[in-house]
Amino acid sequence: MRDDRPISNPNRTIEIMKQYDIKMKKSLGQNFLVEPQILSKMVDVSQVNEKSTVIEIGPGIGALTEFLAQKAKKVLAFEIDQRFVDILATTLSPYDNVEVFHQDILKVDWTAEEFSFLQAEEDLVVVANLPYYITTPIIMNLIESQLPFKRLTMLMQKEVAERMTAQVGTKAYNSLTIAIHYQMDAKISFIVPKSVFIPKPNVDSAVLILERRQHPRVEIDNINTFQAFVQAAFTQRRKTIWNNLRHYYTSANQEIELADQFIEAEIDPQRRSETLSIEEFAHLYKIITK
Ligand code: SAM
Repeated sequence: MRDDRPISNPNRTIEIMKQYDIKMKKSLGQNFLVEPQILSKMVDVSQVNEKSTVIEIGPGIGALTEFLAQKAKKVLAFEIDQRFVDILATTLSPYDNVEVFHQDILKVDWTAEEFSFLQAEEDLVVVANLPYYITTPIIMNLIESQLPFKRLTMLMQKEVAERMTAQVGTKAYNSLTIAIHYQMDAKISFIVPKSVFIPKPNVDSAVLILERRQHPRVEIDNINTFQAFVQAAFTQRRKTIWNNLRHYYTSANQEIELADQFIEAEIDPQRRSETLSIEEFAHLYKIITK
């Protein structure tokens, strides 16, 4: 008999786990959301509609997938754990617009023939309750992929969401903030308490929305070397930008050149990196690497 309760109904989730004798793997970031209203709200803020093609990361037993399937044209869900892939065949059987891939999301080849149709999708978006242990690599991989997605709506550790949305001069502002802000507009949509997960994680979470900008915030010739430069500037937070870059860029006899470059950029080398905007970082980087 068909079960009309949402998969994320706490009793139904527990029953499924018992039925398949599933023990959660902490190492794979397995915390299931068991509050249907939050999942529904997440799909609302993601703006998924009948024209949307959704990439979902880590469907688990299908809690979020089900809400996405009810609104989207198509859902492609990537799950690393074979046990859940088997369960999804049953829990998602009422939906014919979901395709489940048994794959590590970090190893997906988006240039493969089977994904070429994504290039022409009208409204490609990513929606996920992320496995927290690989939040940053997942997001950076997606941003750097050639996928033409419009928006990423992702549930993650609150602290990481705060870093990704941090303002210059604040404690949370770091190289990750700059890596994200380079080509995305970031905002926290709402906070999710730890009490709505099974098992309960140690920290609260937040839904972060990243919208792709039409043009990157600054013009950079090589984004990888720019990011390495910014990371170097943040190596030791307590030190000045000068002290961080001095070790990274120069041998003793090149120090004078670096000092001149700071003067040319009109940036005080005694400032801390967290006080520099992305525009100032780009300006300094261009002078140092020209
Ligand atoms: N979507 C479900 C929900 O909202 O309740 C489960 C979310 S749970 C936080 C994260 C899911 O990501 C788990 O199902 C886990 O097995 C899966 N996962 C972990 N690492 C992964 C990876 N590298 N690639 C794809 N899925 C992964």
